[in-house]
Amino acid sequence: MDIDTTLAWVRGITAAIRRDADYLTRLDAAIGDADHGVNMQRGFSVVRSTLDGKEFSTVGEILTKTGTALASSVGGAAGPLYGMAFRAIGRQLTEPSATAEQLLAALRAGLEAVQKLGAARPGDKTMIDAFGPAVEAFEKALRGGAALGASASAAADAAEAGMRATIPMIARKGRASYLGPRSQGHQDPGATSTALIFRALAEAVAP
Ligand code: ADP
Ligand code: MG
Ligand code: MG
Repeated sequence: MDIDTTLAWVRGITAAIRRDADYLTRLDAAIGDADHGVNMQRGFSVVRSTLDGKEFSTVGEILTKTGTALASSVGGAAGPLYGMAFRAIGRQLTEPSATAEQLLAALRAGLEAVQKLGAARPGDKTMIDAFGPAVEAFEKALRGGAALGASASAAADAAEAGMRATIPMIARKGRASYLGPRSQGHQDPGATSTALIFRALAEAVAP
């Protein structure tokens, strides 16, 4: 993954969020406060203006700047969480390109940052339920001999499966937890945006 690929990833996320903003907001309307799509769209438009026209010398610089822009603009629970995640990912990638192995370690650091800040556990119906399976699937594919493209594609599939698996869960973190069992039967908005992020990664690194 080099600088151009990384920029393509961030652009891909921005496009996917714009395309699915209403969907994310509808999901959040069911179990939250109907702002997740709006929050994410605002965040990634700030990311875009932060990155536009700049030159970068490392992959990590792009991702830490993305995280800082998200933390300062998304608001809500997702802003600080995604902000920390992208900054943690970026901090690991200090060269002009990253190997699949380095990207795996960085994604794991991103997941750990979200868990540290949000204290959510698997099954709490949060973005962790897409992020965790995605990192596991990336690692499994890589250990099985897959290249970067196929590993990222496996991660995106797992993120989407994890996203769907949030439907029957009872929320234990964030606003949706106020609903208790009434949060059941609805897909988590943050797990859904995380699945978009991993699909965009798979598309950016596709051979
Ligand atoms: P808010 O709930 O403040 O309006 P958003 O609607 O932007 O923020 O984001 C809601 C999403 O944030 C949820 O769907 C969930 O995936 C995620 N989330 C909330 N709290 C946590 C947490 N403690 N750990 C991980 N993810 C969380
Ligand atoms: Mg919300
Ligand atoms: Mg909100």
